[in-house]
Amino acid sequence: MIEKQCTCGSEKHHRNLYDGYGIYLCKVCDDCEHNKLNNYRSDIMDRYDTCENIESDGDWDGHWE
Ligand SMILES: [Zn+2]
Repeated sequence: MIEKQCTCGSEKHHRNLYDGYGIYLCKVCDDCEHNKLNNYRSDIMDRYDTCENIESDGDWDGHWE
């Protein structure tokens, strides 16, 4: 018999959690979804732009062309 309860011990049914790209992250329920999200980047649900400026704070002038 397959248990559908969440692993956090809430005894609630779990569901699959995906990030903004639709990539599977983990199983969550209403009780632990927020806690588990805290383990990931705060912007994981956003389709963040991959830009070469993202890791550099050198010549960033604060606005997009
Ligand atoms: Zn849970």
